[in-house]
Amino acid sequence: MISETGQDWKIAALMIFIYVHFLFYKKGDKMVKNSEYYMKKALIEAYKAFNSNEVPVGAVIVKDGKIIAKSFNLKDSKNSVTKHAELIAIEKVSKKINNWRLSDCTMYVTLQPCPMCASAINQARLFKIVYGASANSVESSEIFNKIFSDSNTIIEKDVLSEDCSLILKKFFSNIR
Ligand SMILES: [Zn+2]
Repeated sequence: MISETGQDWKIAALMIFIYVHFLFYKKGDKMVKNSEYYMKKALIEAYKAFNSNEVPVGAVIVKDGKIIAKSFNLKDSKNSVTKHAELIAIEKVSKKINNWRLSDCTMYVTLQPCPMCASAINQARLFKIVYGASANSVESSEIFNKIFSDSNTIIEKDVLSEDCSLILKKFFSNIR
């Protein structure tokens, strides 16, 4: 890619920062496990999607402070419209805990879920959903808000939103 070196460097620096961040804190386990901590884990999943030429969206599901599922978008590799990070993570957890109700789970996802995933998250009755970047279409955002308007699921938005959208921008600028 020409003229994209600035962005390339930014992405590489961000990636190194996140890995070093986790390596450094792993031993002492002193890291505060807040929304940013789990969003960084979801970002690592998004990088895996990026490296597989998939739209870089990553997700993790947390129960009792522990990550019980990690996933990234696999729509192209699996040729399946349902292989969004969120749906893969929900499937993994449902199998693991043998229950479709995920009411004690929180999902961290790098992009505001599309209407398909938002609906599944709502139906799985997740306790909370935390997302990074906002959807790039106003309609999609509106549908998201509508789906959760009458729901008990707690919504937290804009967590590491700049990092989450940077990787998406980089991906789409590479294809064009
Ligand atoms: Zn989706």
